[in-house]
Amino acid sequence: MQRISADKWYQTRRLDDDVTAISEPFIQEFYRCNVWHVRGRDRDMLVDSGMGVVSLREYVPLVTERDLIAVASHTHFDHIGCHHEFECRAVHSAEADLLANPTRQNTLADPYVTDDIFDALPPEPYCSTCYAVKKAPATRILEDGDVIDLGDRVFEVIHTPGHSPGGIALYEKATEILFSGDILYDGPLIEDTYHSNADDYLASMERLLKIPARIVHGGHFPSFSGQRYRQLITDWLNEKQKTI
Ligand SMILES: [Zn+2]
Ligand SMILES: [Zn+2]
Repeated sequence: MQRISADKWYQTRRLDDDVTAISEPFIQEFYRCNVWHVRGRDRDMLVDSGMGVVSLREYVPLVTERDLIAVASHTHFDHIGCHHEFECRAVHSAEADLLANPTRQNTLADPYVTDDIFDALPPEPYCSTCYAVKKAPATRILEDGDVIDLGDRVFEVIHTPGHSPGGIALYEKATEILFSGDILYDGPLIEDTYHSNADDYLASMERLLKIPARIVHGGHFPSFSGQRYRQLITDWLNEKQKTI
């Protein structure tokens, strides 16, 4: 398979509200994590950091421009691969141990990471069978209701277990932006990993439905409107009702 040079690995797209989407276009869409960069007055926030196969710091200079807190929406391999590159790292308490001691199994690199998830491979010396996430112990442990303060903007931590035990969403009241992680995005959701929990998933969806989001940036797939958000959750809840 063709290899892509490091300088072409990431793609960035500037959106409204000082949010920049960073993505890895040569990973197939289903596995491709959305990395979000949010500019604040005093510091910036990174939500997730991609698969870690090319240095984010080196090839996306935006993430080095100012103080930055690298938050993990949760700790699957596709979301935390570059966390080790940042000095300030935050994760929910329920997945703090995972961020500190990642393995191929507990990050789901096993079974997902094979050459088949790529349209073109990362540069040498990448190899799918040796791929591993580097340790990145958190410097800040998050709990539900905590706030990430960027100076002129604040994001509230909403604990959303279900996809994984320490999943979080981040909500900015002033702009009604929601970063939802993998609990909800506009594509096929994963509810059956080794540490997924169906009851938690249901409770998280019911809670999310009450959040007046205007624009939602998920862990995968394109962003969507608040209207689409409520429809996705309502459809999901209705589907569960049918199966009970
Ligand atoms: Zn995930
Ligand atoms: Zn994911």
